[in-house]
Amino acid sequence: MIPRPERGVLRHPAWQYGKSEQNNALNLYGPRIAPVDILLIAAMHGDENETTVVLSEALRRILPGNIKNPVILSTNPDGALQGTRSNARGVDLNRNWPTANWSNNTVYHKDHGGTVQDIGLSTGESPGSEAETQALIDCVKRLQPRTVISLHAPLACVEDPQTTPLAQWVASQVKLPLVPDVGYPTPGSFGSWAVEQNINIITWELPSESLADMIASHTPVLFKLITGDYESEVI
Ligand SMILES: [Zn+2]
Repeated sequence: MIPRPERGVLRHPAWQYGKSEQNNALNLYGPRIAPVDILLIAAMHGDENETTVVLSEALRRILPGNIKNPVILSTNPDGALQGTRSNARGVDLNRNWPTANWSNNTVYHKDHGGTVQDIGLSTGESPGSEAETQALIDCVKRLQPRTVISLHAPLACVEDPQTTPLAQWVASQVKLPLVPDVGYPTPGSFGSWAVEQNINIITWELPSESLADMIASHTPVLFKLITGDYESEVI
């Protein structure tokens, strides 16, 4: 593990798998030889930057060359830069995937601290219309991951429609409930697309906690997932 004084920067080379709508680099860290066991991704919603931070903290503890499973710290850099859930074109990227259930209905979400889903976003002009979606489709097809772990916030649960042993392990490690769905329909979501591609999808919803607490409880588990050290522990 990299000693604390040297964890301030990422020491892994980035591979650019595409560009965002505003020409920001879409970067991946780690091996690109298919098939990979797990692809870990964060921040498809640009206002969930805590997912990028806890994942980056794990990546910055790992010695160069010791990444087994590749990592994408932000699948929506334009949204992250603007502080928006959507990408730069106002599209909720987690409703833009080319799935059988894609819908062009406006999708509504809760604002932070809100209780009513009343903030509207587009699902895109067509399924897969956004540059970020297309680039991630190409990336996933290239890497052929058996499982994708997608970090979101702040629903405080681990979602896996198939209740796989890996999801059970993650949920027990971070002491969050394991659920088969988030309780409402998500047409055109990345999860729906992954299921149609026969890829296991684990949606890891961080809780509403301080970053310090989440780094203490979630980053060590992410470290094991990136380095492959979980394998002997998953039954
Ligand atoms: Zn989200």
